[in-house]
Amino acid sequence: METTVDVRGVWQECMKIIQGRVNHLNYKMWFEPVTPVNFGNNSLVLKVPSLFFHDWLEEHYGSVVNETVKTVLGDEAHVEYKISDDDGAESGPSFFRPPQFSDRRIHPGWSANMKVAPMSPFEGSLNARYTFDNFIKGDSNQFARAAAYAVANNPAGTSFNPLVVYGGVGLGKTHLIQAIGNFARQSGKAERVLYVSSERFTVDFVDAIQKDKATEFSNFYRSMDILIVDDIQFFAGKEKTQDNFFHTFNALHQSGKQIILSSDRPPKELKGVDDRLISRFTWGLTVDVQPPDLETRIAILRKKSEDDGIQVPDDVIEYVAANVTSNIRELEGSLISILAKASLGNREITVDLAKEVVRSLAVSRRMAITVEDIQKIVADIFDVTEEQLRGKTRKQEVVIARQTAMYLTKELTRLPLKTIGSQFGGRDHSTVIYACQIVVNQISGDDKFREKYERIKKKIEMIGM
Ligand code: ADP
Ligand code: MG
Repeated sequence: METTVDVRGVWQECMKIIQGRVNHLNYKMWFEPVTPVNFGNNSLVLKVPSLFFHDWLEEHYGSVVNETVKTVLGDEAHVEYKISDDDGAESGPSFFRPPQFSDRRIHPGWSANMKVAPMSPFEGSLNARYTFDNFIKGDSNQFARAAAYAVANNPAGTSFNPLVVYGGVGLGKTHLIQAIGNFARQSGKAERVLYVSSERFTVDFVDAIQKDKATEFSNFYRSMDILIVDDIQFFAGKEKTQDNFFHTFNALHQSGKQIILSSDRPPKELKGVDDRLISRFTWGLTVDVQPPDLETRIAILRKKSEDDGIQVPDDVIEYVAANVTSNIRELEGSLISILAKASLGNREITVDLAKEVVRSLAVSRRMAITVEDIQKIVADIFDVTEEQLRGKTRKQEVVIARQTAMYLTKELTRLPLKTIGSQFGGRDHSTVIYACQIVVNQISGDDKFREKYERIKKKIEMIGM
C-alpha cells in the first residue's frame, strides 16, 4: 500500500530537528499535539487539533516546519494540514488509520487488506489520552461516569448493554467511552476492544462491500469483546450501513459482548435511524452528559494546567471558568491559547491576557458563523427544510423555526438586521425585530423551548472552533 510509507518515522525525524529549534514549552504546546497522517506526492499531511491551532502554527512556526520537512524529505516536499475532528472520523483513504498506535504489526482496526487473521493480537483504535483518571467528575457528568466505570469493570456483565452516552458537543462523550475501553483493556477485563466513529464504520463497510469482503468485515466486528461506536447520529439515512450494524449489534449482544455508543441526542430523537435499531439502543442504559458547572470548570482548568506542568494563577483560572461556559473543549482551547500567547509573546499569565484571548476567540467564532450554517442547523433540529426557512410559508412549525433562526443570526453574527431580513426570504428589519421579541419571550416562558434553543446555539457556536 502506498500510504504505508513510514510517515510516523518521517515525522519523528522532523520532530527531533524541531525540538532543537524551539523552546520546550512551545514544543510541548505546538508540536506534541500534531500527528502525521500520510505522505504521498511529496506532500506530508499533518493533523492538528483545531483551526485556531493550525493558524497559530502556520503563522509562528510555518517556516520552521517547512524547512524541517525539506531537510528530511527533500526540497520538493511540502506540508498540508488537516483539522482534526478529534475522534478519527476523517475522510482520508479508507485503509489508513492515524498512526498513533504503539505497534504497527498490530491491527488498529478493520482493513479490507488485512492479511493476518482477525483474531490475531489487536490493539484497537483507542487513544490512551482518554482515561478515567483524567476525567474530572462533577454534577454534570457523574452519573454517566459511574455507569461508564461500572461497565469498564464488568463488560457485558451489567444490565447496561448497550451503554449509550449522549449530550452536546465537547462535553466528554468521546473521552468517557474511550476511557471504558482503555480501562477494560489495561485491567484485563477485555482483550479485543474496538473504537470507531459511526462514520468510520460506514466508510469501512462501503469499502468492504466494494472489495467483496463483507463477510470478513462482519466477522472482524463480531470478534470484539467491546465495540465502541461514537456519534451514532451519523448513521442517519444510511440504510445499508444501519442494516449491517443491526446484525453486528445482535450478534455481539447475543454472545455476551459489550456495546457502547455515543450520540448527540437521546436515541429516541435520532432521525433517519431505523426504529428497530433505536429500540435496541434503549435495551441497556442511556445516560447524558451536561455542560459543566462552575466548580467543575475550575477543576478541569486546574487539572489541565497541572498536567502541562504550568503554573496558572487562580484568578486567571477563575476568569476563564466564569467566562467560557459552553463546553469543555472550548475551555481547553482557551487555556491552550492563553498559555501559547504567554509563551510566544514572553508574557506573564494574567487576567488581562485571559481577557484578550477569551474575547478574540469569541470574535473569531462569530466571524466564522454564517447565516447558512445557522439555517442548516435550525432546519435540522426543527425538522423543517432550509428552503422553508427562507420561504413564505406561514405554517406554525416553520414560523417558529424561522424566528428562532433569525434571532440566532442576530445573536451570533455581526450582521445588521436589514441583512438578516434579506437572508430570510427578503423580509424587512422590523420583521426581524418582531421575531427576536417572540423568541426572547419563548425562551423565558417555555423550558422545553429554552432547552432546544440552547442546544441549537451550542451547536452553532461550535462551528467557529
Ligand atoms: P464530545 O465527544 O462530547 O464532543 P470530548 O470527549 O471530545 O467531547 O471532550 C472534549 C475535550 O474535553 C477532550 O479533550 C476531553 O478530554 C475533554 N474533557 C471532556 N470532559 C472532561 C472531563 N470531565 N474532565 C477532563 N477533561 C474532559
Ligand atoms: Mg466526540
